[in-house]
Amino acid sequence: MVQQKRRTHIDFIGPIKKDHPVIFTESALVGIIEGYLRKYHLVEVDALIPQSIFQFPLMWDEKTFWNADYTNEYTEEIIHDIYLNESVKFFDIIRLAIMNIKKDKGNVTSEWKYLRIRLVEDTMVSLSEIKPTMINTPACFEATVIGVEPKMMYIKTAWFECPKGHPGNEIPCDKYRKLQTPVCQYSEGAAACGEKMRLIPEKSSQDYVQGIVIQEPIESTKFGNPVEHDAKIADDLVGPLRVSQKLKMSGILRTVIDRKTNENEIYYDIISYTDTLHSKEAMPTDDELKQMKKDSKEPDFMLKLIKSFVPEVYGLDSVKEALILGLSGGVRAKTKRGSINILLLGDPSTAKSTLLKECAEIITKSLYTSGKSASAAGLTAAAVKRPNGMWMIMPGVVVLCNDGFVFIDELDKATPDDRSSLHEAMEQQTVSIAKAGMHMTFPARTSIFAAGNPQSGKWEMALSAAENVNLPPTLLSRFDIKFRILDVKDYNRDSQMAQHILNQFTEVVEKLYSREFLRKYFSYINTLKPLMTTEASQELLKTYRDLRTKSKDQEAVIIDTRQLEGLIRLSTAHAKCYFREKITVEDVVHAVRVYFESLKSFGFDPESGAVDQTTFFSSAKTNKETTFWNVFQGVDEEEKGGVLPESLIKKLAESTQFDEESARRAVEHKHSRENKIYMNKEGRYMRV
Ligand SMILES: [Zn+2]
Repeated sequence: MVQQKRRTHIDFIGPIKKDHPVIFTESALVGIIEGYLRKYHLVEVDALIPQSIFQFPLMWDEKTFWNADYTNEYTEEIIHDIYLNESVKFFDIIRLAIMNIKKDKGNVTSEWKYLRIRLVEDTMVSLSEIKPTMINTPACFEATVIGVEPKMMYIKTAWFECPKGHPGNEIPCDKYRKLQTPVCQYSEGAAACGEKMRLIPEKSSQDYVQGIVIQEPIESTKFGNPVEHDAKIADDLVGPLRVSQKLKMSGILRTVIDRKTNENEIYYDIISYTDTLHSKEAMPTDDELKQMKKDSKEPDFMLKLIKSFVPEVYGLDSVKEALILGLSGGVRAKTKRGSINILLLGDPSTAKSTLLKECAEIITKSLYTSGKSASAAGLTAAAVKRPNGMWMIMPGVVVLCNDGFVFIDELDKATPDDRSSLHEAMEQQTVSIAKAGMHMTFPARTSIFAAGNPQSGKWEMALSAAENVNLPPTLLSRFDIKFRILDVKDYNRDSQMAQHILNQFTEVVEKLYSREFLRKYFSYINTLKPLMTTEASQELLKTYRDLRTKSKDQEAVIIDTRQLEGLIRLSTAHAKCYFREKITVEDVVHAVRVYFESLKSFGFDPESGAVDQTTFFSSAKTNKETTFWNVFQGVDEEEKGGVLPESLIKKLAESTQFDEESARRAVEHKHSRENKIYMNKEGRYMRV
């Protein structure tokens, strides 16, 4: 870390706050700031117009300056003191100082009263570095807004009057935006009046204050729980903030003890914020890019990428290639998503987690999470009750990683709520939530790579994918590409793996790309937008038709339009990998090959046509007939003396085989066509 010039809060706050509080009149404060601006920032002030935003630098250089009257010399420390003690009035003081300087050049119009001011601090800290001991210390940090409470009014400057009719007083709120009711100090001769004064709301000025929740940016906490803080914004900062916005903020950590409830409220008082414009993504330099493009012309470029991707994981080349295509991403088109979703299923300890974690290491804007232990807001979004009793809608990781990636391990352990809202995120690219009288829709153009383990701990070959991992077929169908990785005991593979592990120790490994290289490579190719060519789309159409024809022969669905869209995205990604501006037939051929490899991992052979997409979702073992009678028997055992039609239909619709409509038809069919069930006097079905 760079050596910081800042002193610690202790030698700064301690003695000054306790023993030498800054007590100046407002005009003296204005004089100090004016002197400071005249000495160091006159050029910037001269350039200002009333519509500008003045960036007031809050430095820690110990520069010295005289106040406006040249009566006292100060160091910058005094600016910080004013900032801390007069934070509510701080910007007004700066404005007045600027207006004084502007008076040199002629009359100052009243427009200057609305000059916008932002604080710029020299050193940034991370929210996770902030400790409770830093109370009252200004700090500058990057944060994402993850919750916004409704805005509230507060009294900025109150007008108090004495019930006995003595002259009134104007009293500004303190730095916690709280008012202390004064007693009347009016005296006629001897003692002061001492009457408790009354607040006159009509003569008081009010403004807005809003509670928000901020979180450190996801990039800095890839594998942990991001630090959260309560914060408050006030006055002209209130309004434009939206959830999931990332900002550079400066603020002061405040602690307020409520004497009535004895509760301690700790929050960040945000003094200013600006959008973070710069992206932290590591882009290749011009030379590096030139080299990458040259490398991509080599015939074994993709193989080298695959070998460089998690080299400690042996084999799984097709899976790695699919992940590489997924990380490159497609291109968004009108209503169609561009992000690629990938699902890795299979036995535990088959490197699925390792692969996902590596993806998170390579991609800057991404988060690695587990289905069971996401944040309070879950994977997508949730209404969360705040300690102050207010409800707040908070975005989950999929929303926070908008335009990025989320890697979800153990998707099978996600809550039913999360699983159902993932549907929307993965298809419409939005997350909507309606709860506690609030409704919000967040953009979620997020790529989702997930992994899932079988419920029983071991993949059961007789069962379908949906049954093995306990995920609804509709969710499975949202993934462009699915792989099954089995823990097969295979002598050849074992000895090859042993050789591979030994190689890593003996350094006979060929020269691979570093993680740093991959990081820059994906940052760059992610920005590319290759165009579809007629030849490439003809090739896609041909593949699609071939597979459809085979479907007809097999009476099974090999491919539908959802998979066709997936193939377009994968072909696009392949073209991006090679820095191509146009998608070629070769890109399509490779994308289709990767897709076929994924089908083969489930034991299907797309070349011979023996593929049935439905077996992803339901096994032959549990066909409709079996399901029907299993459910019937289950309900019969529960209800005794026959089965009520509605409970039978309801239970059938809950199975993977039926929806409500088809359940109703099946019951009708069994009753009046096949005569396998009949209705008894109580209106209950009995088995014939
Ligand atoms: Zn009085």
